[in-house]
Amino acid sequence: MAPVELQPSPPDLSGLLNEILVGMKSLQKDNLQLSSAVDAINGRVNMLAGVKSVQDGAASDPTVMNGKSAVANGEQESPSPKPVDGVSAAREQNNASPGTFEVQPRRTSVSSKIILTSYPGQSGVDPLPMDWGNKDPNLRGPVVVSRHPSTIKRRNAIGAHGGSYAIYHALAVASKNIKADHKPDFTNTEPAANIGPFPQWSDPKKIVSMDPLGHLAPWLFANYITQENIEIRPTIAVTKAHMKLPELEASVRAGRLVPDGKICLNSSGELAVTKFAVEPVWYLPGVAERFGIDEGTLRRSLFEETGGSYPELITRGDIKLFLPPIGGLTVYCFGDPAKMADPSVRLALRVHDECNGSDVFGSDICTCRPYLIFGVEEAVKEAQLGGSGVVIYFRKEGRALGEVTKYLVYNARKRGSDRASEYFLRTENIAGVKDMRFQALMPDILHWLGIKKIDRMLSMSNMKHDAIVEQGIPILERVPIPDEMIPEDSRVEIDAKIHAGYFTTGKVMTMEELGSVQGRAWDDVDSCTVWVGCAASVSCTPHILLLGTRWTPQDVSVKSRRYLEHVENPLVALEGPLLQRKRVVLQSSYFDNVLGVV
Ligand SMILES: [Zn+2]
Repeated sequence: MAPVELQPSPPDLSGLLNEILVGMKSLQKDNLQLSSAVDAINGRVNMLAGVKSVQDGAASDPTVMNGKSAVANGEQESPSPKPVDGVSAAREQNNASPGTFEVQPRRTSVSSKIILTSYPGQSGVDPLPMDWGNKDPNLRGPVVVSRHPSTIKRRNAIGAHGGSYAIYHALAVASKNIKADHKPDFTNTEPAANIGPFPQWSDPKKIVSMDPLGHLAPWLFANYITQENIEIRPTIAVTKAHMKLPELEASVRAGRLVPDGKICLNSSGELAVTKFAVEPVWYLPGVAERFGIDEGTLRRSLFEETGGSYPELITRGDIKLFLPPIGGLTVYCFGDPAKMADPSVRLALRVHDECNGSDVFGSDICTCRPYLIFGVEEAVKEAQLGGSGVVIYFRKEGRALGEVTKYLVYNARKRGSDRASEYFLRTENIAGVKDMRFQALMPDILHWLGIKKIDRMLSMSNMKHDAIVEQGIPILERVPIPDEMIPEDSRVEIDAKIHAGYFTTGKVMTMEELGSVQGRAWDDVDSCTVWVGCAASVSCTPHILLLGTRWTPQDVSVKSRRYLEHVENPLVALEGPLLQRKRVVLQSSYFDNVLGVV
């Protein structure tokens, strides 16, 4: 037998493999660098395009003074101070005060004197021009609110950046975690998508609670930053992201949502979204007008009801802007953002007010998260059909009454009879008002997005509907939340709202009927989860599988049987295979005789 020829030992490939690996890694790195470079360029292109369109828009408008503005060149005097109604009286009260007092030197960070307030015409006070609604950005002027030493005397707005987070900024300054004179570096922060400009941006009556130029501010007003060392920050930021919601994975599984690889990316229901974060910037005369009050009354109330936090509301009638310490909003746009302003395609919109307990933590006392999910799903569908889908999230927790009030109301409801007929009364007894969201300012963001009509409004709220329509944006169809998405315990909320005039395509209950809509009491907040079999058969006996154990009708109290019948009718399986399984949460008071076992 011929000897087996030995294969020559293979050359050592590990060196080569290593080289390839290194090469691939560097390729990957190059790719990453390349894509981030492309992103950065995109951002700059968006910003430049935005700045150019705003400037071109102004230049082509014969009503706008052309070229370099007189104001920017400092030829125009700052507007003469016009004390507003109701303000003079308040000022007189404080007249004797020089507005300054000493602080302990050891706590001093910047200067030894606190400037409590300033007055128009005071030496060194020279606010930058601000002509709200002017189409020419140079005449309009930047929003300047920073207390940076080089900027403080040029401020043309009261308050601070960051909405409610301004207070954390104050903490950071006080604890020396941030330098009071820190200047942000905006490299690569340009908007990730282009928007506008729209004619609405230069209508001082249409946008009064945000800065329409807020996303372009540091670039549009770069001259002020470089030449006058003035600190200007954006109040709007635009980015792109993916989002994943467990409910949407279920939507894909159920076939309600079909992945298209662009908007709904895959079978896990992951979505591609363009997001716009907006901080509030109030043009006080416009805000006052929206509420049908005079500016002085508004200023005085803002001053007094914030514990005198913003004395310039009273002393600086010449300054018309206020950046209030409140939450802002976020726009979630599905599909091409340019389509929001295109009246030839359909638009689905959900305007959602924050409910942290439900939105994030899954409380079932209200319909908030289910409605939010429904809104996202419908918005995505509209975008997939070639239209636009938008969800706007406002930080207005608990009808803008806050969570503490909200929980007090919950307590009062649960310790009482929690009937839909008393739903609003409970809130009103505690808070003095049933709702403080005041939707009057909400449509500003729709104007800013260029929205001219809404094909499908995914909301039942009359206040939202009326506020939008009053702003000249027609709503063609109103879409209530589907019944099957309403959690059982939240019937109290939703039926009360429907009775109070919320939009529905279903039945509006009478006051008497509302009296019978009752939520869970507290003794049943401990819950247990069961699997309920549901058969097609009609004549069935209630039959429950509890944590793998079978329960016969005798095990179930009359109360829980009634509850089950309400959940699904006919409800429960016969002996034999389960045709459908549904996970429901049974509350212990409906289910008292088995509670011990769980
Ligand atoms: Zn809620």
